[in-house]
Amino acid sequence: MPDQHTKEYDEGKALEEGILIPLDLPEFQVVSQTWHHDGSVSVRVIAKQQTAICPQCQVSCDRIHDRRDRVKRDLMVRTSRVNLIMIKRRFRCSTCRHTFTEPDKACGRQRRTTRRLRETLGKHAMTQPVEQVADTFAVGPRFVRECLHHLSTPLLQARGLDEHALGPLPTPRFLGIDEFAVRKGHRYATILCNLEQREVMEVCLGRKLDDVVALLNRLEHPENVQAVSMDMSASFAPAVRKALPQVQIVVDHFHVIQHLMKAFRKVVSSWAHKKEGCILLHRKQHLFLCAKEDLTAEQEHERARIATHLPALAHAWELKEALRTWYAQATMKTAEAQLDAWIIQVRETGPEPMRQALSTFVNWKAEILAFFRFLPNRLTNGFVEGKNNRTKAMMRQAYGYRNFRNLRVRILLGGTV
Ligand SMILES: [Zn+2]
Repeated sequence: MPDQHTKEYDEGKALEEGILIPLDLPEFQVVSQTWHHDGSVSVRVIAKQQTAICPQCQVSCDRIHDRRDRVKRDLMVRTSRVNLIMIKRRFRCSTCRHTFTEPDKACGRQRRTTRRLRETLGKHAMTQPVEQVADTFAVGPRFVRECLHHLSTPLLQARGLDEHALGPLPTPRFLGIDEFAVRKGHRYATILCNLEQREVMEVCLGRKLDDVVALLNRLEHPENVQAVSMDMSASFAPAVRKALPQVQIVVDHFHVIQHLMKAFRKVVSSWAHKKEGCILLHRKQHLFLCAKEDLTAEQEHERARIATHLPALAHAWELKEALRTWYAQATMKTAEAQLDAWIIQVRETGPEPMRQALSTFVNWKAEILAFFRFLPNRLTNGFVEGKNNRTKAMMRQAYGYRNFRNLRVRILLGGTV
């Protein structure tokens, strides 16, 4: 902790105390340091500057009126708390007789912590729960929240967002909309994305018609939106039709495949519970659930071997893979006829869970096909799902509705700080 300019500094004593770390606050000189029994360290510092400018008459003063110690929390060194004991001088102005305390750039006026500590707390709180950061740094949670907001507010403003999720939103051509649980099964939040920039634009509580309409009404230039990508289960479509009536709704291929996979998983699992399948599929279900191109030659060989024994499962697998191939190869011209043919094939030859999944394909056919119209723009919410997973992970760390404001900041700025 002491720096090289410190004359009072005793080398032998410091070696006993361990590693030396530069203070890295160039305006100060270290006077002494004391390690305490609780593992914390106090470092006495004084400003190198010998004069200060009188705030009243702007004259440089060097007459010291008195000195007082002020204790300021600084960054930790490993697990040790560090208190800077600043010897703060008061000057008396020789011109106007005014007494004033020297300025403190490291902390700011009347702050009991260094700026760099507050910044570090804010950065940690971007990715960790407030309580956890408070514990790690042995500070109060309210203070951590204050640091988070101090850091995040200008960053949000730079993206045209206000602190309370109310202001107007910049309008991209392609929007993505998705939802996630803020409290499992209780409360949901809606996420709005700019699909061209692949970034989350806004996060707000609720997923009902009114919530989503209110969110979409914040778009500054709704006429600029061309398409909105979404999943099929949510109540988003009516909200989009209401707020953005001219816009093409696109069902994301990611969600369509997810929908079919849910049904296919039931098929695989039912075979794994049958007499014919339980040994063959023991620890092998993934060979059918994986995408074909992700299997090694050896794995594919094993999958094909099992398939010869379970032809009905093999057929279901082919139907699943056929949808994936369709997405990979169809064009705007061929997509509809190929989808129709696939639907008929599933209806006539597919297993029950997959047949049940078909109604979604029928009801959302236009929106599913619209994907191919916007294909070059890669209208997919896939990256949002990634964000959602991280959000879910944050949820498991037990913060929910009460800290929604922090959650929003984390989702919007996570990764940018
Ligand atoms: Zn003065």
